[in-house]
Amino acid sequence: MSISVSTPGLTEAAIERVERLREGLRERDLDALLVKDLTDVRYLTGFTGSSALALISSRPVSPEDAADRFFTDFRYASQSSEQVRGSFAREIASNLLDAAARSLAGGKGRLGFDDETVTVADHARLRGKLDVAWELVPFTGPVRALRMVKDADEIVRIRAAAELADDALRAVLEEGLAGRTEREVALALEERMRVLSAQAASFPTIVASGPHGALPHAQPRAEEIAGDVLVTIDWGASLDGYCSDCTRTYATGDAIAEEAREVYELVRAAQAAGVAAVRPGPTGVELDSRVRELIVAGGHGEHFGHGLGHGVGMEIHEGPRLSQTGSKDPLVAGNVVTIEPGVYLPGRFGVRIEDLVAVAPDGADVLTRLPKELTVVS
Ligand code: ZN
Ligand code: ZN
Repeated sequence: MSISVSTPGLTEAAIERVERLREGLRERDLDALLVKDLTDVRYLTGFTGSSALALISSRPVSPEDAADRFFTDFRYASQSSEQVRGSFAREIASNLLDAAARSLAGGKGRLGFDDETVTVADHARLRGKLDVAWELVPFTGPVRALRMVKDADEIVRIRAAAELADDALRAVLEEGLAGRTEREVALALEERMRVLSAQAASFPTIVASGPHGALPHAQPRAEEIAGDVLVTIDWGASLDGYCSDCTRTYATGDAIAEEAREVYELVRAAQAAGVAAVRPGPTGVELDSRVRELIVAGGHGEHFGHGLGHGVGMEIHEGPRLSQTGSKDPLVAGNVVTIEPGVYLPGRFGVRIEDLVAVAPDGADVLTRLPKELTVVS
C-alpha cells in the first residue's frame, strides 16, 4: 500500500478543521480562541515543533486572509515557515502568551481558552497582559472534540501505523518467546518498529508473562519467559503523527492450564462481540456494557477491572472513552477506538486482546489484523 504523506499544513482537511472550529466559536459567541496544547496546534496548523501557540479567529475568512495567528520562538523560525500554511500570520516571540495578548491590543470581545490545557498561571498571566476590553471565556476541549472524528487522511495514517506495528510483532515472534526476557522482547519490538520507520513506540511496550500478566499495566522485567504460560504483549507505533494500539496474548507451549485456555476463549468471544457491535449509534457506556455482560456471564466480571477501550489518534489516549464512566454520546463514523477486554487472575495469569477499530458508516473497520486464535509461540 502506498501512503501519501502530504505536508500536513497544506491539506484541504486542515483548512476544513479550522473552519469547523470557527463555527463552534460562533455558536458560543466567541471572537477568537487561544489554542495552547501542542497536539491541538499541530492538528490545526501542521506545525510539529515543541513551542507554539495559535489564535483562531471566529469570523469567516478566505484561506488567503491570514486572520489566524501562530506564535513560536526563534528556534522554529524556518521550520514554522515551511509547515504552517499562509492563512496564519506567523510571529516569532520569546514569550508566546505575552505576544498573543499584544496581538489582541486595541481590540475587544470574547476570547475563548481551553480550560483543560490553559493553566491557572497562564490564565493569570494572560489576564494581566490582555486589554480589559477582552473577556476570557472557558471552553472545554473544543479542538479535542474535533480530533475525535478522524478524516479519511487521518485514518490512512492510523492504519499505516497499525500495519507497521503488526509487521514488527510478526518479525519478533519469529525468534520465539520462551527463554527470552520480557525486556528483551519489548526492546526487540520497539527496535523493529523503529527499523520499519516508526518515529517511536506510541507508549512503553508491555510484555508480561505468567503471573505477571495479571497486572494490566505490567512493566517488562529482566526475567525469562517460561514455557507453557500465557504472555500478553501490548504495543503500538507512532508514525507520521498518529498512534496505533494493539494487544495479543500468546501461549508459550501447549500445556498451559486448562483454566487459562477457558479464560482466553471467554475474552476472545467477548472481544469479538465488542468489535461486532462497533458502528455509529451506541455510546461508549453501552459498548462497555455489551462486552462486560459476557465476561460477567463467564464468571469473571470482578477480574475485568478496566474500561473496554479508548479513542486513539495523534495521542494514544483520546476520546471517546468506552467504559462505565465513559462517553454518553453515540459513536460516529470517524471515531477510532480500541476494543480491549481483559481478565486478570491475581498471582496466576492474565489475558487481554485488543484491536484498533475505525467506526465506519456501516460498522467496524478493524485496523489491527493479527490473528486472535490462541497461538503457541514457544
Ligand atoms: Zn494497548
Ligand atoms: Zn489501549
